[in-house]
Amino acid sequence: MSNIQNIAFIGLGNMGGPMALNLVAGGFEVAAFDLSAEALQIAKAGGCRAATSIADAVAGADAVVTMLPAGTHVLGVYGADDGVFAHAKAGVLLCDCSTIDVGTARDVAAQAAKQGFVMVDSPVSGGVAAAQAGSLTFMVGGEEAAFRAAQPVLEPMAKAVIHAGDAGAGQAAKICNNMLLGISMIGTCEAFVLAEKLGLDPQRFFDIAAKASGQNWSLTSYCPVPGPVPTAPSNRGYAPGFTAAMMLKDLRLAAQAAKDGNASTPLGAEAAALYARFDDVGGGSVDFSGIIQMLRGDFTAPDEG
Ligand code: NAD
Repeated sequence: MSNIQNIAFIGLGNMGGPMALNLVAGGFEVAAFDLSAEALQIAKAGGCRAATSIADAVAGADAVVTMLPAGTHVLGVYGADDGVFAHAKAGVLLCDCSTIDVGTARDVAAQAAKQGFVMVDSPVSGGVAAAQAGSLTFMVGGEEAAFRAAQPVLEPMAKAVIHAGDAGAGQAAKICNNMLLGISMIGTCEAFVLAEKLGLDPQRFFDIAAKASGQNWSLTSYCPVPGPVPTAPSNRGYAPGFTAAMMLKDLRLAAQAAKDGNASTPLGAEAAALYARFDDVGGGSVDFSGIIQMLRGDFTAPDEG
């Protein structure tokens, strides 16, 4: 398992595209596949082999990495007649890096185990900039041996690869983290809106809160008002980044998990309701920090034309 050289990478979107290129930079032979011809072309220009199908991508692969939108895509890519399980070499390592519900992750892992594959769920935190920089944080669910097998594959794309627990634990960590992120972003936005109403200069409020007990990642790394953090999407009209629609997806996964697990998460539920409202008024394609505009009452939906 430690002699992994050939990797099939399926799902070359905003995240998967740059992640595949970092595997090439890490010295792996990468066969890339996506339904989008444009995404395939970019992967090919970056040194991947452009595969014509999932079967073609996984032929000869020692490991398969997937980065897909949601659970239904993951079930299809792995389980369909023309999918990974049907065509990958027996015993190869499978790493699903998509953010999906815990139940589907466990289901796919169980199917993989039954068919003799070694699988981990390995969702990421960090966004597109970290995908490009190879500085994602991977939260890995699976047996200890599977985690150790996955480490050398994930490391060229990572600043940290952390074992969260058994199958599904990576997804559990991811949705708990993102529920906290959604709540902290809304809290940070509300603090700026109130500061503005109270006549505080946003930069001065930032300087104080960043050194006081209100300090958090949404404030100091992803500030929702332009100026204090030059790399934040607020400085480029809230172009994503991480869309509000993706945040809503993750908050809904957290709400479902809370319901299934009988956990009380009232602020998570309120954050989901606020992001659903933002999506309803046309904010879905906007960066998730752009919700400050709705909270302030000055949001205008972008012209999709
Ligand atoms: P994306 O929509 O840009 O990319 C998904 C890609 O999967 C697309 O290129 C699509 O064509 C491809 N795809 C879908 N079905 C396929 C199939 N059957 N076969 C082959 N390719 C298929 O999404 P993204 O922003 O790259 O996000 C991917 C995952 O990463 C999501 O689960 C998301 O929640 C998670 N994530 C995203 C971010 C972010 O900042 N964008 C951050 C952390 C995690």
